[in-house]
Amino acid sequence: MDFGISPQLSDRLQQAREFVQNELYPLEPRFLQEGFASLSPELQRKRDRVKELGLWLPQIAREHGGLGLTLMEHALMSIELGKSPLGHYAFNCQAPDAGNMEILLQYGNPDQKKRFLQPLLDGEIRSCFGMTEPDYPGSNPTWMGTMAVKDGGYYVINGRKWWATGGDGAAFVVVMAITDPGAPEHFRASQILVPADTPGFSVAAITPFMGHRGEEWASHAELSFESCRVPQSNLLGAEGSGFLIAQERLGPGRIHHCMRWIGVCERAFELMCDRAVKRRLTPERRLAAQQFVQGFVAESRAEIDAAKYMVLHAAWTIDQRGAKAARDEISLIKFFVANTMNRVLDRALQVHGGLGVTDYTPLALFYRTERAARIYDGADEVHKTSAAKRILRRYAEAAGIDKLG
Ligand SMILES: Cc1cc2nc3c(=O)[nH]c(=O)nc-3n(C[C@H](O)[C@H](O)[C@H](O)COP(=O)(O)OP(=O)(O)OC[C@H]3O[C@@H](n4cnc5c(N)ncnc54)[C@H](O)[C@@H]3O)c2cc1C
Repeated sequence: MDFGISPQLSDRLQQAREFVQNELYPLEPRFLQEGFASLSPELQRKRDRVKELGLWLPQIAREHGGLGLTLMEHALMSIELGKSPLGHYAFNCQAPDAGNMEILLQYGNPDQKKRFLQPLLDGEIRSCFGMTEPDYPGSNPTWMGTMAVKDGGYYVINGRKWWATGGDGAAFVVVMAITDPGAPEHFRASQILVPADTPGFSVAAITPFMGHRGEEWASHAELSFESCRVPQSNLLGAEGSGFLIAQERLGPGRIHHCMRWIGVCERAFELMCDRAVKRRLTPERRLAAQQFVQGFVAESRAEIDAAKYMVLHAAWTIDQRGAKAARDEISLIKFFVANTMNRVLDRALQVHGGLGVTDYTPLALFYRTERAARIYDGADEVHKTSAAKRILRRYAEAAGIDKLG
């Protein structure tokens, strides 16, 4: 393993760090108090500046206008960007657009790349991903109710999705729908591109989320498809490959989330330590002198470092040996980092006392939004059992045991 970085990358990380601190931190109070929409024009200017600095699309190959970072290099970049809730958006590597870019690059035909991918890469539009449904378990994406039935060169889509991040104002949705109910379960669904102005498609609701509704990119939408007709040429990849494409999307997607969460941890840690040294409990004694707080600091530092090196190791494994070889690592970091982040946020918030639950720091926002990290892209329990099953299968094979029951 080699986690060494080039002097060029080191410069870029420094540039990103300074940009996030100097340009994005000052926007956070308005984001927290007035919402994402209030920042749109200003964020556009920040995005233009990121382009001028040559930092746009860190995760995308140079030939498509990105920085061409390896996954491990992007992990380091993502840690810097994750320190602000606006970081990934400003650099155009935010979920769910980053995942949609990846699958369009891999599976899109030339026309789909021109119509859907290019404006996404340019930051002219946003998109969303519709897989999860209110009436079916998101944990089992082979079972869903949304149907796409062929009719004279079109797919007619009927169904309902929810938790489509950024669905409010998205120019298109990549929707997962059953195209062949009689096929084996992993080959029943397909992914289809649905422009938001297609008749029969609508954003039925913005899902209230931990006491907040949000808007635009910073919200989650419930989507309705009622006899929504799109040309069959909007099929992404082969018919029946929806589940496989979703798996390919979610592998790197999970590691992208984990990289960002380390950034959240680092920001929370910085805020916790800063508050601990500055806050006085008496005229002579500071909060940092309390052993409880010292424990929070030591435990958090150790846990963040452990999580960070697990994420870098997973990214390095994918870079060297491909996503399939890193399946255990991806499952393990998904729940480990999500839980580390939740613990670190909880401690940082506690150290801030009443201030911690106000919107005068980003801690309450992180605390509120990142609890969901233990649920989306696979709940903790699903990742724990699937990693454990793979590990135990190897032991069973070595012991000549066929079935564990
Ligand atoms: C903030 C947020 C953003 C999201 N963004 C998107 C998006 O952009 N697009 C999209 O399509 N979806 C999105 N989702 C949906 C998300 O991926 C699902 O919520 C997730 O897959 C879980 O599905 P579910 O909510 O239906 O829970 P269920 O599948 O009903 O599971 C409920 C609980 O049951 C337990 N459980 C389930 N299966 C097992 C198992 N095999 N073993 C043990 N325990 C189990 C777990 O504790 C789980 O939390 C988002 C969700 C959130 C909260």
